[in-house]
Amino acid sequence: MLVVDILRKKGGEVVAVPPEATVQDAAKVLSAHRIGAVLVRDAGGAVLGILSERDIVKALAHQGEAALAESVTEWMTRNVVTCEPGDAIASVMETMTRRRIRHLPVTEGGELIGVVSIGDVVKHRIDETLAEVEAMTDYLRS
Ligand code: AMP
Repeated sequence: MLVVDILRKKGGEVVAVPPEATVQDAAKVLSAHRIGAVLVRDAGGAVLGILSERDIVKALAHQGEAALAESVTEWMTRNVVTCEPGDAIASVMETMTRRRIRHLPVTEGGELIGVVSIGDVVKHRIDETLAEVEAMTDYLRS
C-alpha cells in the first residue's frame, strides 16, 4: 500500500500560513481545521517550514503568553522531511517513528500534493485490517 492510496481517499488539501503569521494565527488555523500541523509557505508557494502543535507548546513553555505574538518563523522547523506518492506506507510509518514526527508533506516532482499525518496512517491500517478480517470470515463461511 502506498502514500497515493491515502491521498486518493483524503484528498490533497495542504493547510498553510504565510511567514508573517503569528503563533496565535497558526493556533487558530490548527483549531479551525482540526489538524496538528501547518506548513509555512511564502507568497510564491515555497515551503519555508512546518509548525506543529508541539512547537506551539514549546513556545508557550519558553515565553509564556508573549509567544503568541511571535512570528511562526521563530518556532517552525525549517528542514522539512517529505515523502512521495509512490512511497510505501510502511516506510512512512518507519520515518515518522524514527524521526518522532507525525506529519509528512507529500511532494511529486518538487510540487506539494498533500500531507499525510500519523492519524491518516493509523486509519488506513485499521481499514486494511478490517478488510482482511472480512475477507477471512467470508472465506471460512464459504
Ligand atoms: P509533530 O510530531 O508532527 O507534531 O512534530 C514534532 C516536531 O517535529 C515539531 O518540532 C515539528 O515542527 C517537527 N516536524 C513535524 N513534521 C515534520 C516534518 N515533516 N519535517 C520536519 N520536521 C517536522
